[in-house]
Amino acid sequence: MSDLKKLYEVVQQRNNGDKEFLQAVEEVFESLEVIEQVHPEKLDDDVLARIVEPERQIIFRVPWVDDNGVTHVNRGFRIEFNSALGPYKGGLRFHPSVNASIIKFLGFEQIFKNSLTTLPMGGGKGGSDFDPKGKSDAEVMRFCQSFMSELYRHIGPNTDVPAGDIGVGGREIGYLFGQYKRLKNEFSGVLTGKGLTFGGSLVRTEATGYGLCYFTQALLKDNGTSFDGKTVAISGSGNVAIYACEKATELGAKVVTMSDSNGFIYDPNGIDLACVKEIKEVRRGRIKEYVETHPDATYTAGARPWQTPCDIALPCATQNELDLEDAKALVANKVFAVCEGANMPTTPEAIHYLMQNGVFYAPGKASNAGGVACSGLEMSQNAQHLSWTREEVDARLQKIMESIFETCRDTAKEYGHEKEYVVGANIAGFLKVAEAMKAQGT
Ligand code: GLU
Repeated sequence: MSDLKKLYEVVQQRNNGDKEFLQAVEEVFESLEVIEQVHPEKLDDDVLARIVEPERQIIFRVPWVDDNGVTHVNRGFRIEFNSALGPYKGGLRFHPSVNASIIKFLGFEQIFKNSLTTLPMGGGKGGSDFDPKGKSDAEVMRFCQSFMSELYRHIGPNTDVPAGDIGVGGREIGYLFGQYKRLKNEFSGVLTGKGLTFGGSLVRTEATGYGLCYFTQALLKDNGTSFDGKTVAISGSGNVAIYACEKATELGAKVVTMSDSNGFIYDPNGIDLACVKEIKEVRRGRIKEYVETHPDATYTAGARPWQTPCDIALPCATQNELDLEDAKALVANKVFAVCEGANMPTTPEAIHYLMQNGVFYAPGKASNAGGVACSGLEMSQNAQHLSWTREEVDARLQKIMESIFETCRDTAKEYGHEKEYVVGANIAGFLKVAEAMKAQGT
């Protein structure tokens, strides 16, 4: 048995039952087997054993009172996974599915994602099993204040810098920031994704979706094509999906699907994004409301969009939302590329099937790194006490995404797995962190 397999067994024993975390580790280890074959001297077992163990995990009680005076209690999490490259950095997710395994997988992915951005950020993640759906603004505010009343003692602009993720957008970041400021009497860059009037960066809201399209554009160009005239299927209708739709459309594609956890919409005329924004961002409604004003569009309840014929699929909803059956449908419909906007949306069986059938596949830790990359740019602006123009931030984001694509492409090629971008992403992301850990003796 190879050392990697032995170590994976240890990880399994230690994280018994944490299935999402083990799935993420297994995918990275599969790529590291390539290092073991090609450059075994670069694979240091001691570093590997350390990198799979979080530096710190915090779990805490979050009590809050609803509008009827009833008390509720949720669980809060922050994982400070790896600080080899910089302060822990990664989002907060508020969703009923959140548990220790989900936070651990997200934190683990974040280490390599942040490494690929080339910016000095370590990996972290956090969140709560709180469900913001159907809650009033006042309830969300009280929850965020209670959450920060514990979290504040663990974070700081040079220690750990949270941001948003599923269920945490500008509204939540504002309330969290306000509470941090009251508790610490300090106005700092402790969170990213802040409002533009209090230290936020232009383009941060759009950055994950735009970045996904910049990465995909680089991939398409490198393989002799472009977004122009392509049909795109997108899942999700949150921040990532909305801005992926906006940029893909701007680059000449026709986006025909979007979804939420109840079902998906298909619009043969191309998604009317102003309507989606109105439903999701203003009304905080459900995606099925779209068909009320779009007679050509259809809504399919309880299904995901992957049976829809498309050239490019951009899964932007959540983990494990594209499985083997979906991959088979995409291949049957001759999909050209699948680039992930969400974190780990494609199951391992689906990834293998897509790649075996010649579909270009980009893992989220590379293709969705635009959000955290822009967070890194927000940290730089906060540290300098100034704000850059939209053009400047957007140009830097685009450059970072192109460089991530080139790193994935070149590393995959160097290790004899040309066009297998996931191999390149994992190897390049890992080697940089491993080198820093060795140098620091951590
Ligand atoms: N939640 C985003 C991600 O998965 C962004 C994190 C951040 O900006 O820190 O990368």
